[in-house]
Amino acid sequence: TKCGPDGNFSEGEMVPFGPISLSPSSGVLNYGQGLFEGLKAYRKTDGPILLFRPEENALRMRIGAERMCMPAPTVEQFVDAVKQTVLANKRWVPPTGKGSLYIRPLLMGSGAVLGLAPAPEYTFIIFVSPVGNYFKEGLAPINLIVEDKFHRATPGGTGSVKTIGNYASVLLAQKIAKEKGYSDVLYLDAVHKKYLEEVSSCNIFVVKGDVISTPAVKGTILPGITRKSIIDVALSKGFQVEERLVSVEELLEADEVFCTGTAVVVSPVGSITYQGKRVEYAGNKGVGVVSQQLYTSLTSLQMGQEEDWMGWTVQLN
Ligand code: PMP
Repeated sequence: TKCGPDGNFSEGEMVPFGPISLSPSSGVLNYGQGLFEGLKAYRKTDGPILLFRPEENALRMRIGAERMCMPAPTVEQFVDAVKQTVLANKRWVPPTGKGSLYIRPLLMGSGAVLGLAPAPEYTFIIFVSPVGNYFKEGLAPINLIVEDKFHRATPGGTGSVKTIGNYASVLLAQKIAKEKGYSDVLYLDAVHKKYLEEVSSCNIFVVKGDVISTPAVKGTILPGITRKSIIDVALSKGFQVEERLVSVEELLEADEVFCTGTAVVVSPVGSITYQGKRVEYAGNKGVGVVSQQLYTSLTSLQMGQEEDWMGWTVQLN
């Protein structure tokens, strides 16, 4: 197969969740040739199921496939497979307000290789699981530690795509942080070691007055779909939004800090620890008014509690 997003994917089948068979010399097991996505299905109060911006996940996987030298499903194939998987598992979509169905598409080099090279064959699978809140804190503020030893991505690397290896590189730092009582790790850029990048599985925003700033997507951070959606929601609510370099000093002086991601939705940050110093953010029990407002706007769209004025949801049934 040539590198790049176009390939020939044959029709798949629905099978019960369980082990899959894979060659011990598959590209994914030996050389990390794998990409994944994450999106959610929500149930509206009157029963129907909504997907949130699934084409964005399909496009991100195709961009990632170019970097990882692998073929990917078309946007149509991807979205269709997601719809079929969710419909086949609709009894697992929790009632409104009780969580969501997390959808995990995986694309991997399943063909056998021995010398370092892209795999000769690829497999695309989707599995789903009902989920509640990502952080044990729920909507309560999380406590982050700024990491100054490990980095998750470097310029020219794979930080901007959702490849499995990016997550392998953060496991140790995240475990150490959790053992010390932090919710997660905030990474700095690997060159200057002073600009914010992102958290292990979400993007970061800082609020100062009416200005909301977030690190620009320039090769080392994942272009989050929640990040992009929150920027649009914030702009439409009259906030000024800046995508640029955001220094750690700005973070420590912010009025509010929050994280965004499919799993975490909008999670307010209650404290940041940097080089042994802890900064706490004021607000209503730590949940800032801006974070709260953006959380409410985004989730009411995702759960179909207000008219979809952005045209972001896809109703399944
Ligand atoms: N950064 C990283 C490293 C992530 O794994 C995720 C989760 N996909 C995000 C940011 C947030 O992206 P999204 O809003 O698309 O879930």
